[in-house]
Amino acid sequence: MNIFIMGAPGSGKGTFSSRIKEEFNLNHISTGDIFRENIANETELGLQAKSYTEKGLLVPDEITNNMVKEYLSHLADKKNGYLLDGYPRTLDQAKAFEEMTKGTDLAVEKIVVMDVPFDELTRRITGRRLCKKCGAIFNIYSKPPKTEGVCDECGSALTQRKDDNEESLKVRLDEYAKNTEPVIAYYEEKGMVSRIDASKAIDAIWPELKETLKNK
Ligand code: AMP
Repeated sequence: MNIFIMGAPGSGKGTFSSRIKEEFNLNHISTGDIFRENIANETELGLQAKSYTEKGLLVPDEITNNMVKEYLSHLADKKNGYLLDGYPRTLDQAKAFEEMTKGTDLAVEKIVVMDVPFDELTRRITGRRLCKKCGAIFNIYSKPPKTEGVCDECGSALTQRKDDNEESLKVRLDEYAKNTEPVIAYYEEKGMVSRIDASKAIDAIWPELKETLKNK
């Protein structure tokens, strides 16, 4: 099963991606995570991406498409397929992906869109805290850790993403409305999209999301 998970920043893509990849045994590919890793390791790709991601802008399509292509060609274990999180974000990316997977077993089959009202997204993004060590995600408003700044799961220090501030968020939401909503409309016309009401509590969303992926 090959899936795209789409949604605005703060819509829960990261949280639900962890659950989906476990439940369905999929390779999880997050373009945002790959960029962050490359920026931290100061690779050439990281240097190219840094100025865009810090401002909340999309990294140019050519760089992003080449990175995804490279990543797909090295999927050592295809498991039951992939979960692509944060890609495609522009129509050019969607079309490039179609080209690179045409006639292979890597074509996308299902697309889930996590719908959250825009005013709720700000609270989620500015309150988000992450554990870099084990990947756990907290929110100081809705899911605070037991001890401030410390991961409940592994005891490491929690961090905040550099682009999780109000200024970058505004740019990221604008990018989403301008570039990514047309991608969703494109797949909606093909009848491939399932929309999930992701404004509810996590435990209320998960059963619906799981059923949607199983049934479609
Ligand atoms: P995310 O973790 O998905 O919110 O992505 C963080 C940042 O990485 C974005 O704000 C962009 O700067 C960059 N990025 C991630 N995925 C893409 C993509 N598909 N196209 C362009 N830029 C991306």
